Amino acid sequence: MPATHLPSAAGSAAVSPNGGGPGSASHPGADGAYLRCRELGMRLSRQRRMVLDLLWSEKAHLSARDIFEKLNAQGRNIGHTSVYQNLEALQSAGVIECLDRASGRLYGYRSDPHSHLTCVESGAIQDLDVELPPGLIARIEDLTGFTIESYTLHLSGRPRAGG
Ligand SMILES: [Zn+2]
Repeated sequence: MPATHLPSAAGSAAVSPNGGGPGSASHPGADGAYLRCRELGMRLSRQRRMVLDLLWSEKAHLSARDIFEKLNAQGRNIGHTSVYQNLEALQSAGVIECLDRASGRLYGYRSDPHSHLTCVESGAIQDLDVELPPGLIARIEDLTGFTIESYTLHLSGRPRAGG
């Protein structure tokens, strides 16, 4: 059987929504994040586990305030400063994702390279796995003299009528 991970339809980009694509095996859930913290020598305090569990169950891009409010709505006793400090520690260690938006920082559960689609009507952001055609990456490498190791696309649009 041919050993290839390239998209079968040469010349077209492979796209799958919400982490169902080639990168999906690399985020097995909050347990994977716990493991990653331990490997990095980070303490897994009760508050830190709360923040990780919420991000993995919501699977959305949330602000520190969103996360604080959701945890407190669940009856979790955690302060805003603790939420913020844990998010910053986790994102600087590369355990979680951080998006800098004009409205502030948003945190997400995935740390592997992936792309985003922003709805211009609601502002909602969804994760996308977009695989560029190898020919396009080769052209970019020729143009820049760089070896491309990863990429993230930022797309925006609105829901199609009737879609
Ligand atoms: Zn994301």
